[in-house]
Amino acid sequence: MKFVSTRGQSEPVGFTEAVALGLAPDGGLFLPQKLPNLAPHLAGWESLGFADLAYEFLKLFATDLPPDVLRGIVQKTYGTFGQAETLAPLRKLDDRLFVLELFHGPTLAFKDFALQLLGNLYEHQCAQRGEGINILGATSGDTGAAAIHGLLGKPKTASFILYPEGRVSALQERQMTCTGAANVHAIAIDGTFDDAQRVLKEVFGDQDFAAQHRLSAVNSINLARILGQCIYYLSAWLRLPATGRANTEFVVPTGNFGNVFAGWLLQRMGVPVKGFKIATNRNDILHRLFNTAEYRSEPVQPSLAPSMDIQVASNFERFLYYALDENPTRVRAVMAQIKATGAYRFDVLNKASFSSSRATDGEITALIRQVWERHRYLVDPHTACGFKELNPARVSIVLATAHPAKFPEAIHAATGQTPTHPALEVLKARPIVKHRLPADAAAIKAFVAKHAV
Ligand SMILES: *Cc1c(COP(=O)(O)O)cnc(C)c1O
Repeated sequence: MKFVSTRGQSEPVGFTEAVALGLAPDGGLFLPQKLPNLAPHLAGWESLGFADLAYEFLKLFATDLPPDVLRGIVQKTYGTFGQAETLAPLRKLDDRLFVLELFHGPTLAFKDFALQLLGNLYEHQCAQRGEGINILGATSGDTGAAAIHGLLGKPKTASFILYPEGRVSALQERQMTCTGAANVHAIAIDGTFDDAQRVLKEVFGDQDFAAQHRLSAVNSINLARILGQCIYYLSAWLRLPATGRANTEFVVPTGNFGNVFAGWLLQRMGVPVKGFKIATNRNDILHRLFNTAEYRSEPVQPSLAPSMDIQVASNFERFLYYALDENPTRVRAVMAQIKATGAYRFDVLNKASFSSSRATDGEITALIRQVWERHRYLVDPHTACGFKELNPARVSIVLATAHPAKFPEAIHAATGQTPTHPALEVLKARPIVKHRLPADAAAIKAFVAKHAV
């Protein structure tokens, strides 16, 4: 299987190359040249455990990896989460309402599913090529922690994660700084998340430096992250009672469009899901898109669901590719217009089975309380957005993207409860190891040069 760029000006590449590159050389995002049809496989996949299902699914894409190598990577990835049946539990709240818990990985957020996979794919590549890899990323919270834990203790790898000092939650900071691992470098910069991203771009902009230190970016546009996320949708759908499946709507707390896009791609591959609901917080660029047919960036506003405080949905370009009939010339034109004007209006936007909702901070608090009172179930502020305006005609599966114990203040304010998790309690007893650096490319480069593998 080959992967093409949404912008059509890079040569198609195999799976390994697409994962190693992240972004396509022409600035586009990778997608399968031709989507496989999963429909004939579904009946046979019903009885598979999570790791076996992941293997059967990924082998349709990772055709350049020997089967035993892929199997090893998959076993290793989903082994770190614990027992198969506890990987992604499907909790039934009532006959028409389920929660898919995606927070049982090492950093208690759904990003672990894809970043654990990516870490093991990187490890394999390092071994193949006989050289190390240095991961450089900027984070406002969850991605950095999940990336760090994806590479924790792996030979010939180091991670350098920039985050804004004083602007990530105390627990998120502990997840990045209390690992005790020598190959993890948490860098607290003086400045905002935007400053961290600017510095990151400058460092990658020095292509000689990036090549010399074999720097690789972790961000939500890597193909492996999309495919890694498809698996839990598939697993959940297969576990539903057969009578409800075709009427299922996945409800997805959304920021970058990455998670929900993975589910939608699965539908395009022939899994009969009824629809997808995009649940945003007050940063509602995607909610506005599906209501007005206009994609328009607005300034980011902080919210109770910080991992969704995004106003440039980087995976939007993948949706656009399909919305524009897989025509890369049109994708290039639209992306150029968005870059120039910050907006694009579709003449006709086929909503393609998407619906959407938006929750303000006040509504998030009310929803956390309502779910607790009705079901005695605690949801984190991101997941809470999914409970706004559930469609009574559908069987809804709300994706729970983070463990409530990651956001104890918001939960306590809404319910009086204070959720805890042993993995987070352990961190509280460990020393914080971080490096304070100015938001300055020269300072970051000097640090990376000194500690790179
Ligand atoms: C990253 C994140 C999201 C948003 O995911 P996208 O793929 O950007 O839509 C939602 N909830 C939590 C807890 C996250 O960490």
